[in-house]
Amino acid sequence: MEHSRISIIKGDIVEQHVEAIVNAANNSLLGGGGVDGTIHKAAGPGLLEECRKLNGCATGEAKITEGHALPASYVIHTVGPVWKDGKHRENELLSQCYHNCLRIAKKYGLRTIAFPSISTGAYRYPVERASRIAISEIVRFLGSDESIRNVIIVCFNDEAFRCYSAALDEIPEHRTNM
Ligand code: ADP
Repeated sequence: MEHSRISIIKGDIVEQHVEAIVNAANNSLLGGGGVDGTIHKAAGPGLLEECRKLNGCATGEAKITEGHALPASYVIHTVGPVWKDGKHRENELLSQCYHNCLRIAKKYGLRTIAFPSISTGAYRYPVERASRIAISEIVRFLGSDESIRNVIIVCFNDEAFRCYSAALDEIPEHRTNM
């Protein structure tokens, strides 16, 4: 699924040759399971060493490190909300994750950034809802920023790929054939 500056692909985020990949981390930034574990394993111990100096990260915020052994030069760590019932600022916090990652990428002059589907694994955020929030926040940010050239959303399974592709198709200005 390809649209002007946003691409949805199925794959493994650690293999992406982009300037920054985003890590769906936890508040400690000291590693965990899921995509976080895979990123730390691929980046090597230098990443954990650097993360130890960051003093954790609040939910919705983001912090940047180098990419160490990864093909990506940087890792932007963000902490998504744990899904409870939708009444605990989950939407707002998830939007903030995407916004703050893009803000850091812009600040560092990074042009290509790959996101995983934040919060939709261990944090149980419903993927369809998460995909609409992610896409609308990314589209909004790119609408007011020319510096970021390409945002890739790396989906780990078919369901995520379907949801993010459908969410992107709902954005009129991004429809193909228009
Ligand atoms: P969270 O705690 O934010 O829910 P998880 O890592 O548990 O984070 O899951 C977030 C999403 O990342 C899930 O959709 C999961 O399928 C996906 N995922 C897991 N490993 C990878 C990977 N190597 N590359 C891309 N996405 C991944």
